[in-house]
Amino acid sequence: MARVKQFMRMTRLIIIPLFVLFLAACGGGGDSTGSGNNVKDDRVFNWKMVTTWPPGFPIFQEGAESFARQVRTMSGDRLNILVYAGGELVPPLQVFDAVSQGTIEMGHGSPYYWAGKVPEAQFFSSVPFGMTAKGMNAWLYYGGGLDLWQEVYAPFNLVPLPMGNTGMQMGGWFNKKINTLEDIKGLRMRIPGLGGKVFKRAGGNPVLMAGSEIYTALERGTIDATEWVAPFHDQRLGLNRAAKYYYYPGWHEPGTMFELIINSNNWNELPDDLKQIVETTALAVSQTIYSQMEYYNQKALQEIHQNSHIELLQFPDEVLQELQAMTLETLDEEAAVNPAFKRVYDAYRNFRNQYMQWTRLSEDAYQDILRGQ
Ligand code: CA
Repeated sequence: MARVKQFMRMTRLIIIPLFVLFLAACGGGGDSTGSGNNVKDDRVFNWKMVTTWPPGFPIFQEGAESFARQVRTMSGDRLNILVYAGGELVPPLQVFDAVSQGTIEMGHGSPYYWAGKVPEAQFFSSVPFGMTAKGMNAWLYYGGGLDLWQEVYAPFNLVPLPMGNTGMQMGGWFNKKINTLEDIKGLRMRIPGLGGKVFKRAGGNPVLMAGSEIYTALERGTIDATEWVAPFHDQRLGLNRAAKYYYYPGWHEPGTMFELIINSNNWNELPDDLKQIVETTALAVSQTIYSQMEYYNQKALQEIHQNSHIELLQFPDEVLQELQAMTLETLDEEAAVNPAFKRVYDAYRNFRNQYMQWTRLSEDAYQDILRGQ
């Protein structure tokens, strides 16, 4: 034992000084280490971020505020972002323009809000019968989707980054059962975007309405049905008190992606380390928002289950198949007259078709087994 201890002591005597020498060689060499510029760019950036969310809106607005706090901490107070909810500085639907024009440096929302200006932006958000959050992440980060998105936004002086996903949404709240496509005819439903267009093609009457007006409209019968998000947000809006039937799945929004948009002049001004902090924090917040959605939705679903007057119903397969066929018609019609839309649609569709082959024999096959239990 004594010999072993003596050997260990000798080893330490030799190895430790060698290690110290090695560290000195690495750390003392300045630029020769390849770690980049050691001269710190200590400029301070005081920015504003506007969002499309109502003040205090759980998970979404909270996510934007958490992003700003994390960036400030990691940058050592060099990038300070003041976050304003929708309407506090600019109306929610003017976020894109405000950041594009450079009045505001950053924004948080979802690309499909700008469908009137950039129809192809919807593919970076969510399209009916499109990809879920997992497929969207794979396409955007590794399948060329984000490059395409950045190209689409470049003419508007905007740099987009994914920052959040709602996960699968619910089909919505109804006071009338949907047994066949006939039941959709004449139905007044709050359902925006491409989902609304498809709903109209099916004979429905899509209504546009801000979140704050939905509960009263449904309760008073101004509308017959509404979609919003999923159990957690729907329950907070009180929709479970205004309708009897809660339908699934959210065919019209299978995984809505959120965006962080940055004015490109402001982005170009940032030193590389701050750019890296923004990109990495956006990635982290994206994961946080998606995980929170999955957690709080399952929790809220338990509460809805316990509420005996709500009936949870799945849309009949036949209705979903018909809506899917109408979705393809709607997308093809737009692609036929809009080359920019077609370009993004083709890229999205190619990836989706390939990705579906993988999900069918991985997650889908696995879920089929679980359903049988
Ligand atoms: Ca929705």
